[in-house]
Amino acid sequence: MVSEPMNIRMVDTLGQYSAIQEEVDTAVQAVIRSGMYINGPVVNRFAEQLGAYLDDTHVIPCANGTDALQIALMALDLKPGDEVIVPSFTFVATVEVLALLQLKPVFVEVDMLTFNLDPTHLSKALSPKTKAILPVHLYGHVAEMAPILQFAEAHGLYVIEDAAQAIGGSYRFPDGRTMKAGTMGTIGCTSFYPSKNLGAYGDGGAIFTRDAALADRLKTICQHGSHQRYLHEIVGVNSRLDAIQAAILEIKLRRLDQYNEARRSAARQYTELLSDIEGLICPSEASYAHHVFHQYTLRLTAGRETRDKVKAFMDEAGIPSMIYYPIPCHLQEAYRHYGYQMGDLPGTEQLTAEVISLPMHSELTREQIIYISSHLKKALS
Ligand SMILES: *Cc1c(COP(=O)(O)O)cnc(C)c1O
Repeated sequence: MVSEPMNIRMVDTLGQYSAIQEEVDTAVQAVIRSGMYINGPVVNRFAEQLGAYLDDTHVIPCANGTDALQIALMALDLKPGDEVIVPSFTFVATVEVLALLQLKPVFVEVDMLTFNLDPTHLSKALSPKTKAILPVHLYGHVAEMAPILQFAEAHGLYVIEDAAQAIGGSYRFPDGRTMKAGTMGTIGCTSFYPSKNLGAYGDGGAIFTRDAALADRLKTICQHGSHQRYLHEIVGVNSRLDAIQAAILEIKLRRLDQYNEARRSAARQYTELLSDIEGLICPSEASYAHHVFHQYTLRLTAGRETRDKVKAFMDEAGIPSMIYYPIPCHLQEAYRHYGYQMGDLPGTEQLTAEVISLPMHSELTREQIIYISSHLKKALS
């Protein structure tokens, strides 16, 4: 028997929409009728609700996650040439904003199981110029924050969390306290890009902080460095969240935990089906982490050639997969001037040759997961 094509998507924003269509359409219509498209009550309300969800953190909405990172760095007293410790195994935006502000990325290795900044490498990266650490909660798994925060405290460094992939995820401290991704450092950043765990139907982002004065400064930077119209105290940018996007995000925020649970369930099913295959390492969840599986990312330990062959086999079968990320930031052409070479971060370089991300979203069915897993097994046999 020939089975039906499954129409499997890497990300299923439309499937998610169909379950909330009426509510979303009504909210979008209401914004259009209100005539208030930029800032205004809906944006403020969403910011408050997200702040409450993040255990009473100040939330400053902005235009996208890259802006969030840039504005976060602009708000701190950093000078050109200051160093920021950052993983190389991340989306380029994390590093791009450092370059734009003439800050120097100092790349560190990630843990080979969690894909996140390895705190045991921090002391090697420290110099008199170090001013901040920028951990990325990659794929929805929080970085090991307690030792990172401890190190930052001991050396007077800021911590800026890139939580673009981890909204709703959390970290459990050794004393049992739990905190949400993006709320532990000096500033946290996230993205509402459509494929993110809390995705808008366009661009969007937000900045988090527990410090009221810093929140005010971040907000000021977002609006051209101005508190009061046509008075500009500091150099800012124009970075705003649309009211239409805020209205959509407000609806999705109410379901964020449920969406993340669906991702966790899909991940559990993948792992059950794939865990005892030789040469394949399933993503794990550290004891301190509540993983929200922005991505379900496997390692194929035979390396790049096998990984690329497996991807081609899956493509052939109509199963999407992605390589996040095929080239680490320290080896990208744009960042060559920082002087890194192949071999400088062997763990990171190994991961870029081994990783493959499978379809992951809140609408995956058991049938699809079985189908994807069985094809992956075939591809490896
Ligand atoms: C998506 C993403 C960003 C950038 O967000 P945009 O909204 O696309 O600008 C930054 N860092 C990481 C880790 C991301 O995944």
